[in-house]
Amino acid sequence: MKVLLYGADGKVGSVLGPKLEEAGHEVTRARSGDQPKRDGHDAAIDFTRPDAVRKNIEGCLQAAIPCVVGTTGMGPADLASFDELARRRDIACFVAPNFAVGAVLMMRFAAEAAKYLPKAEIVELHHDSKVDAPSGTAQATAEAMPGEVPIHSVRLPGLIAHQEVLLGGEGQLLTIRHDTLSREAFVPGVLLALDKLSSLPPGVTVGLESLLE
Ligand code: NAP
Repeated sequence: MKVLLYGADGKVGSVLGPKLEEAGHEVTRARSGDQPKRDGHDAAIDFTRPDAVRKNIEGCLQAAIPCVVGTTGMGPADLASFDELARRRDIACFVAPNFAVGAVLMMRFAAEAAKYLPKAEIVELHHDSKVDAPSGTAQATAEAMPGEVPIHSVRLPGLIAHQEVLLGGEGQLLTIRHDTLSREAFVPGVLLALDKLSSLPPGVTVGLESLLE
């Protein structure tokens, strides 16, 4: 596929670009301040910033280019706008707060455990240049669990992306933890999303789990 990659010089984008090429895709790299030509691309991928993603993705959807969005920190209005534009163009827009399969399994196991241990809290830990808090993964985890699940955000140098879900019961503690040790962890999920884009329904589809089942 001919892929337009927004955020190509970022921490994720700089890992993703060469991996997309290794997988046989042709990559146009879009950096901050670029105005890349959209025409002729089969798909766009965005790993930028919450204040940049909307313009990039709305422009692509208006040009009838299906999109894969990894950027976090968007609000419901962003997703509603993507959904409307994608439906109007009869194309897919896939959005995932976490493209690492281990993190998706962590969310699933946490939702399952919460049926039996309903008191839970989430600690998410990320590198100190992450601009949004709490993380999209922590919010998605909490939303899949019953009741109000407090989220604690830690931002420190040296970290990449880590999360613990702590579930307490009388005399016991269950900890479900996922660690992203390098940004290669996101690559298979993004490749899978690209592969499945043409078979997804028009509009927004959220979450890697919807591609795994
Ligand atoms: P990063 O290192 O800050 O990279 C973002 C890149 O996007 C920077 O190079 C930035 O350039 C560039 N950029 C900003 N505005 C742009 C625009 N309008 N067009 C093109 N490029 C633009 O951040 P990161 O760690 O790679 O993460 C990127 C996003 O993905 C964040 O929202 C993060 O939370 C999210 N993320 C998601 C997942 C997932 O699995 N869904 C995994 C990891 C990260 P400047 O520095 O010059 O502004």
